Amino acid sequence: MIPLSDLPPVIRLDRLTKVFVTDEVETHALEDIGIEIARGEYVSISGPSGCGKSTLLSILGLLDSPTSGSYALNGREVSELKAWERARVRNREIGFIFQSFNLIGDLSVFENVELPLTYRGMLPKERRQRVTEALERVGMAHRAKHLPSQLSGGQQQRVAVARAVAGEPVILLADEPTGNLDSKSGEAVMELLHELYMNGATICMVTHDPRYARHAERNIYLFDGRVVAEPPEDLDVPHTFRTSNPEPRTPNLERGTRNQEL
Ligand code: ADP
Ligand code: MG
Repeated sequence: MIPLSDLPPVIRLDRLTKVFVTDEVETHALEDIGIEIARGEYVSISGPSGCGKSTLLSILGLLDSPTSGSYALNGREVSELKAWERARVRNREIGFIFQSFNLIGDLSVFENVELPLTYRGMLPKERRQRVTEALERVGMAHRAKHLPSQLSGGQQQRVAVARAVAGEPVILLADEPTGNLDSKSGEAVMELLHELYMNGATICMVTHDPRYARHAERNIYLFDGRVVAEPPEDLDVPHTFRTSNPEPRTPNLERGTRNQEL
């Protein structure tokens, strides 16, 4: 067996930039980003509105590509893949959880979770098994035949989590997964993510809410498109959240981001 420490990081970004050009205006959304996320880590990314969180997560999720720099996913350079190759890697290696759930309204809960597996060409029997298991994991198996509109927001997000985990991706990416939920449902979704993490999932979550950032094992702060060592002042982070969490599941303090190590 290969020791865990010899495996490449799930995510490795080096000198990554993203520049949006519209009507001759250049927005430098991301500048010189260097981040590593190891297998089994739970990392949060936070920072004020407009600092580049969603841009970063879209690039990590292969929904967008960087302007320059390197992105290695599970040891493989993916920054210059063609669109169809990106779609394939995304389908197999990434589980994405959106703020607005993004379930398909006229498909049942079961079919929503099944769809990415169908795109992958998985046989019906294995699909059924994977979908059933994923729905059981999130406590939604009893709603398999419902339509998304027949569920509460919290339940819809649980289904979206099932869809993200069903394909056994190498990483789960979540962009403000509690943003559209009341605090009770939000907390339940956070507990679900934490449970997945305890069972070995690698998670990268964007949140502007420090209460949720504390669920993660390591926090990365963005400000004006750059990784900064400390939370920016206008991010209202209570003092206790300013250091990394006291009891990470595995002691891996050596895995700082490149910028934080400077
Ligand atoms: P956050 O998620 O932290 O609020 P974003 O990643 O959405 O921030 O945006 C970062 C910056 O990039 C902002 O200045 C935003 O206006 C700009 N931006 C994001 N997407 C686009 C786009 N498609 N075209 C032009 N500018 C964009
Ligand atoms: Mg955003």
